Amino acid sequence: MLINNVEIAVQRKNIKSIHLSVYPPQGTVKISAPLGTSESYIKNFALSKWTWITEKRSQILTTYKESKEKEYVSGESHLLFGTEYRLLVLVNPNEAQNVCIDGDYIKVTVKNKENVKSILEDFYKVQLQERVERFVSKWEEVLKVKCEGIKYRTMKTRWGSCIPEKKSITFNISLAQKDIECVEYVVVHELIHLIEPTHSTNFYRILEKNIPNWKILRERMN
Ligand SMILES: [Zn+2]
Repeated sequence: MLINNVEIAVQRKNIKSIHLSVYPPQGTVKISAPLGTSESYIKNFALSKWTWITEKRSQILTTYKESKEKEYVSGESHLLFGTEYRLLVLVNPNEAQNVCIDGDYIKVTVKNKENVKSILEDFYKVQLQERVERFVSKWEEVLKVKCEGIKYRTMKTRWGSCIPEKKSITFNISLAQKDIECVEYVVVHELIHLIEPTHSTNFYRILEKNIPNWKILRERMN
């Protein structure tokens, strides 16, 4: 059944009530209805849920798009501090390798196309480093702490980590894809660990006082 240009898979089976689900990764919509339910009833049911369907589908599509493994080829979309750019890969063995922002494009010049991923990662690291160091200086003063070492790594499951005994903080290079406010939130979060190593009540009290909208920012990062 096609509604508002969205294909809906309808299944009639031996169940008591009609229900609807949206599935990843394509945002496929499926309706299960009791045997004998009319086409028009199903259509009206879907239309009555349309706002929810639309929101759910776009949520699934965004998540899938972001989590999909990157291929590092021209035309691919890449985020830098929350702004979407297209990748433009120029392979030229005679030119110096470099990355620059050119309008809507992240332009990568490489000697060999195998190098795109690592050269882009270096670029993201430098971009992130600039912002993080500025935020660290600002918040060290506010929180009256001193961070002795900052590292950058690509991490699978965390945005940052802190070893309070060593006063050392590691930031995930993928943070460079997130909004600048999110970057600042992670910096403050990790710096607070220099005062409160665990997520104690006091930790959240300090966080709340300094970044009142931290919950919204944390939500935006997942
Ligand atoms: Zn933490």
